[in-house]
Amino acid sequence: MTELTCIGCPLGCRLTVDEENDYAVTGNSCKKGAEYGKNELKNPTRVLTTTVNAEGGIHGRCPVRTEAPIPKAMLFDAMKVLSEVTVKAPVKCGETVLEDILGTGVNVIATRDL
Ligand code: SF4
Repeated sequence: MTELTCIGCPLGCRLTVDEENDYAVTGNSCKKGAEYGKNELKNPTRVLTTTVNAEGGIHGRCPVRTEAPIPKAMLFDAMKVLSEVTVKAPVKCGETVLEDILGTGVNVIATRDL
């Protein structure tokens, strides 16, 4: 059994996940918590939010995020890849700045106009 706190909403339900019973989750107040508890032990993922270099605008950095969660184990390598990325203004919020990061099938998008 593993205990963890659900991050699905501000309620922060205390979850218990039973690895020996097909990752059955208890303590959740909704379906989202059951899904989170199971995924967190089997394949934890996170949306990566960071900034990349920017040229030609008034800001030297452009805030970006992955369009969807990526495996938690890949976050460090994804940060390394993004440290090499430079965008050129103008950039629109929602525009893809990097496709298919680390072969995950997930694009990285800008989160503001530049
Ligand atoms: S289980 Fe549901 S209600 Fe509880 S913290 Fe997670 S998302 Fe919120």
